[in-house]
Amino acid sequence: MKLANLEGRATILAEGGGIDLERASGGRFGPDVQALYDDWDEVREVAAGLGGAEVTPFDEARLGSPVPAPRQVFAIGLNYRSHAEESGMDVPSVPATFTKFPASLAGPFDDVEVAGATVDWEVELVAVIGARADRVAEADGWSHVAGLTVGQDISERTVQFAAGSQFSLGKSYRGFGPMGPWVVTPDELTDPDDLALGCSIDGVTVQDARTSDLIFSVPRLVAELSAVLPLLPGDVIFTGTPAGVGITSKPPRFLQVGETLESWIEGIGTIRNHFVAAAG
Ligand code: ZN
Repeated sequence: MKLANLEGRATILAEGGGIDLERASGGRFGPDVQALYDDWDEVREVAAGLGGAEVTPFDEARLGSPVPAPRQVFAIGLNYRSHAEESGMDVPSVPATFTKFPASLAGPFDDVEVAGATVDWEVELVAVIGARADRVAEADGWSHVAGLTVGQDISERTVQFAAGSQFSLGKSYRGFGPMGPWVVTPDELTDPDDLALGCSIDGVTVQDARTSDLIFSVPRLVAELSAVLPLLPGDVIFTGTPAGVGITSKPPRFLQVGETLESWIEGIGTIRNHFVAAAG
């Protein structure tokens, strides 16, 4: 199943378009996508029975974030060997965890403001929690995941490394967490632990890797994080980025007004964000 947020209305993808979940379920579910993660098993059950429902074509530019208001946003640094190496950092023994404040999240095709001179890209697999996870074993990790989506952990590097380190603030400017285009349930993927991912700037690929290179896999992250605190339905985990970010390019390069960043993951889809001047 693929779940999208079409202008604020929960929409199940189908051949040729989308099915409005509120209408097709006779009002069993409301239009709010975020609320569905609290009731995920039933959503899946109802969605599986929508065979004859009305399918309406839509323009993907109308899509908002498929996880618009998570209660908790976890993000993991240095979770690919290739990125730890290019950053000159040791591979961590525990997940290097920070947050992106929820108000920085954005839709898959939203414009993003260039908030400083050192705005960088980080394509990431994002896992969405579908069942409360509290002290979950790694072997049970996937059963607490509703689905996967494409994310960008956009980062203002100067702020990120200011005052010792300010990861959460430097990665939380307006629009710095685009996600989408939809959430895909793990059963739709041949191997949810091994997906190609990458991103390009104005059509030139800058990151190109596989999620099988993650140091801490999705189920391992569910285990590690839920050993510390409960993960709640509708929470997201930005799982980290592979090599190829701007700050470690030679010479370093950063996102400029007018550039378009396209980010993709095999079996999920592509998001596209245009960079615009910051409001005064
Ligand atoms: Zn990141």
